[in-house]
Amino acid sequence: MKVAFFSTKRYDRQSFAEANAEHDHELTFFEPRLTPQTVSLAAGYPAVCVFINDTLDKEVLKTLADNGTQVVALRSAGFNNVDLAAAANLGMKVVRVPAYSPYAVAEHAVGLVLMLNRKLYRAYNRVREDNFALDGLLGFDLHGSTVGVIGTGKIGIIFAQIMQGFGCHLLGYDAFPNDRFTAIGDARYVDLPELLANADIISLHCPLLPSTHHIINDEAIAQMKPGAMLINTSRGGLVNTRAVIDGIKSGQIGYLGTDVYEEEADLFFEDLSDTVIKDDTFQLLQSYPNVVITAHQAFFTQNALQAIAQTTLNNINDVEQGRDCPNEVKTEKQVASTPA
Ligand code: NAD
Repeated sequence: MKVAFFSTKRYDRQSFAEANAEHDHELTFFEPRLTPQTVSLAAGYPAVCVFINDTLDKEVLKTLADNGTQVVALRSAGFNNVDLAAAANLGMKVVRVPAYSPYAVAEHAVGLVLMLNRKLYRAYNRVREDNFALDGLLGFDLHGSTVGVIGTGKIGIIFAQIMQGFGCHLLGYDAFPNDRFTAIGDARYVDLPELLANADIISLHCPLLPSTHHIINDEAIAQMKPGAMLINTSRGGLVNTRAVIDGIKSGQIGYLGTDVYEEEADLFFEDLSDTVIKDDTFQLLQSYPNVVITAHQAFFTQNALQAIAQTTLNNINDVEQGRDCPNEVKTEKQVASTPA
């Protein structure tokens, strides 16, 4: 199948070219994001392959469909950037990569915890400048601390297992609790207010949905233990950034480690080091000494890139050959009308 890729980087081209050796798709890589301005590049391509910051609203989907596109292949797990109802109305299939390496994201979340609780980012810079003083680097033991996991799916469970290995107590909150979480050591489910009130470290692993948008807001922050650590490797929209800034300023949030940012689409994945960043909120956030930001790299391991490319091309095969694709993303209406 002819596939137009958007938002591609060198590493995408490499992993997909390697995976395509086993397939026979015709891959064309475009660097720009998919937007109303760039959508015409996909004319004549029955498949488009997109990433998290590509726009797939009603208008873009309509243009894609008018120009012959039948399948949107997300090379991500999240699909909050796709208007699924519009795609269904246009008869377009949407497929995704539900799991590639949950370890990559969970391990990155743990990395952020360790950077913050031992202030490793500050220590690294100090030693490079021959400053060997310890003042300002005082940390705390993870052993014995309480970790709250919001969203105990594939990534949340692995994160919880790793934190249990450090000797942490585990609290979980999930709209759909599962036994795999409670099977871990002393892990137990609580409601959200109880998790917020008792966790020393809170890590977000739920998807971005209308029900989880700004799940961390003024009210949630007020319920947290003073000085708590907040980790977000999920989606920027889970957090009201303004509220978090107020929480950091008041000391209610003692540490923030985030791999995602609500307005990241205009910043992340690009080298902007010669540019004046105009997003004052982002600049303010990264000015605090107890904040560590990474630019949506939690997924970025060799293992994950290989798995993403393989699964995406298999998904495209399924659609091309008219088979049911296990990774198709359906609207609730489509799910309800599927025979059991
Ligand atoms: P998953 O579907 O396995 O788990 C998500 C969990 O969240 C499920 O247990 C679900 O029941 C729960 N949930 C749903 N609605 C909820 C609600 N309202 N409140 C609390 N919990 C709720 O997904 P996963 O593979 O573990 O991925 C989790 C998220 O991680 C993804 O949605 C994605 O946004 C993010 N992610 C980030 C990166 C990155 O590079 N930073 C990479 C992959 C995934």
